[in-house]
Amino acid sequence: MSRPKICVVGASNIDLVSYAPRLPKLGETLTGTRFQMGFGGKGANQAVMAAKLGAEVAMITKLGDDIFGKDTLKNYETLGFATSHVLFTSEASTGVAPIWVDGATGNNAIIVVPGANDLLTPADVEARRDAITQAQIVVCQWEVPLETTLAALRIGRAAGVTTIFNPAPARAQLPPEAYQLSDIFCPNESETELLTGQPVATQEQAEAAAHMLLARGAGRVIITLGERGSLLVTAEGAQHVPAPQVKAIDTTGAGDAFVGSLAYFLAAGAPLVDAMQRANQIAALSVQRTGTQSSFPSAAELPP
Ligand code: ADP
Repeated sequence: MSRPKICVVGASNIDLVSYAPRLPKLGETLTGTRFQMGFGGKGANQAVMAAKLGAEVAMITKLGDDIFGKDTLKNYETLGFATSHVLFTSEASTGVAPIWVDGATGNNAIIVVPGANDLLTPADVEARRDAITQAQIVVCQWEVPLETTLAALRIGRAAGVTTIFNPAPARAQLPPEAYQLSDIFCPNESETELLTGQPVATQEQAEAAAHMLLARGAGRVIITLGERGSLLVTAEGAQHVPAPQVKAIDTTGAGDAFVGSLAYFLAAGAPLVDAMQRANQIAALSVQRTGTQSSFPSAAELPP
């Protein structure tokens, strides 16, 4: 059987994490205790998750012509991505996220510099349309320009490729086309609240909010609900898929683990609710380990 094929159009970032006894004040220089670098970016994370499960991944992304870009490319090569769609620019740095972590409380302060991600254009995507049309699923997020995401979703829709849009990070406004082009619209709770202006504390509220998103044109809506799992809402009705109960130690990237796994299992032919169940299981495994991509399990680590 051929491997499930997924195309991700999205951002690549490098997380630069500095731990210190507390966060510095304005103008202050502090001595930190530890530094860690990690590969990130929502698009990259979701692509890596799908690849770890066994998908053939084409990643359309843009990196800076710098050491972070080179390292990111190497990471993609190691994971077996089709890297001919990884673009470089000398006009901006690779996307970076310098993060300060207060070692005592775990509180953090983050500056995301999108850099090259902001320079991924609709024309870049159109020139690589084959990567989308040859996939079973195209996955997009909101860390590259919205016009670029819409271009990818349009190509997917026209070719009959299933489109998944994860509208993250949270913002309040999306044009109607973004909903209409999404076969699966997959926000988390805070993204749903921001997009609808409605609370999603209870399942009834989440269902009501999802119906607003359906009314805007989304094919099906899946809201991820953290430890409560995920909720599918379609024109036919709603189905809650609970997550396994686990002791979470680091939930960073849980949503990306969910979306990347969902894409993989759907591309592999699983029915939607089964794919959600598997994605919940995998995301629940990831929250029991530290890190983002490093916390994602590979196919070999999954329970049978
Ligand atoms: P995000 O990381 O975008 O905030 P969520 O917090 O909704 O996304 O988490 C995504 C998915 O990860 C959930 O749907 C669930 O499957 C899983 N998950 C997250 N937190 C936990 C947890 N504490 N226990 C079990 N599963 C979890």
